[in-house]
Amino acid sequence: STVFLNGQFLPANEARISPMDRGFLFGDGIYEVIPSYQGRFVGFGPHISRLHDGLAALSIQHGMTAAAWRELCDKLLELNRPALGDNLAVYIQVSRGADTKRNHAFPSGISPTIFAYAFAIAAEPVPDKAKVPTYSVITGNDLRWQRCHIKSTSLLGNVLHYQQGVEQGAQEILLFDRDANLTEGAAVNVFVVKNGEIATPPLSNKLLPGITRLLLLEILRQHSDLNVVEREISYDEVLAADEIWLTSSSKEIAPVLSVNGRPVGNGAVGDMWLAAQRLFSEYKYSVEC
Ligand code: PLP
Repeated sequence: STVFLNGQFLPANEARISPMDRGFLFGDGIYEVIPSYQGRFVGFGPHISRLHDGLAALSIQHGMTAAAWRELCDKLLELNRPALGDNLAVYIQVSRGADTKRNHAFPSGISPTIFAYAFAIAAEPVPDKAKVPTYSVITGNDLRWQRCHIKSTSLLGNVLHYQQGVEQGAQEILLFDRDANLTEGAAVNVFVVKNGEIATPPLSNKLLPGITRLLLLEILRQHSDLNVVEREISYDEVLAADEIWLTSSSKEIAPVLSVNGRPVGNGAVGDMWLAAQRLFSEYKYSVEC
């Protein structure tokens, strides 16, 4: 495939990064993953805003504008679609750059390492109960740091939680803070449905401000017949939910059918999920945030 590295498009096997790069040594960087189907990106603007927010939080100066990112990402699709297919995500990573020595303090006079590549993703999710991939999850204490709102490449906390799920035969883990309130999953945001109320935890330093979460809230709130809230959700409420959904750029909205080996609601894909994924599929390209 053709990748982008520091201003150049080149074959992936020719891309080289210094072992002194702070992305490698410290996980000192920010990343994004933006999905596209048939050349159309989902939530491009909000993804780039989040990237810029993260870079600002780390004081990484990069000189890229939203328009420059758009040109770069469109070019990656153009160069890779013939070989990789029509459903591609673009991964972007910006690290603080490479220094000559390993030193915790931010070095002066280095430029960031900007890397992006496109990779094939599964077919566009569809609002169809028979086709949607469903999830079994476990629960655990959220042991990550207190800056989970930053989409940092330092993902070890998330990796260890994800692996905890894998080792227990699950595909995700729902995480709870010290007050036993839901935060998010290892790589997803979480929505809980009970008696018609659709709830998700409020934004804070405890969770990533997911773009799918943002788009979904925006779309659902355009329908005044739906009861949508951002509020704390307790462990007991999660276990008693009618439906649980995981949201992420690659999954869109994914139903959870079991938690810790027990069925969620009646153990089948829910009607609220179907309504939500229908609305999401219909409006995701048009919603502006
Ligand atoms: N939470 C975490 C920890 C994530 O890594 C991700 C990204 O996949 C999400 C939530 C979902 O975010 P988005 O909807 O922007 O993909």
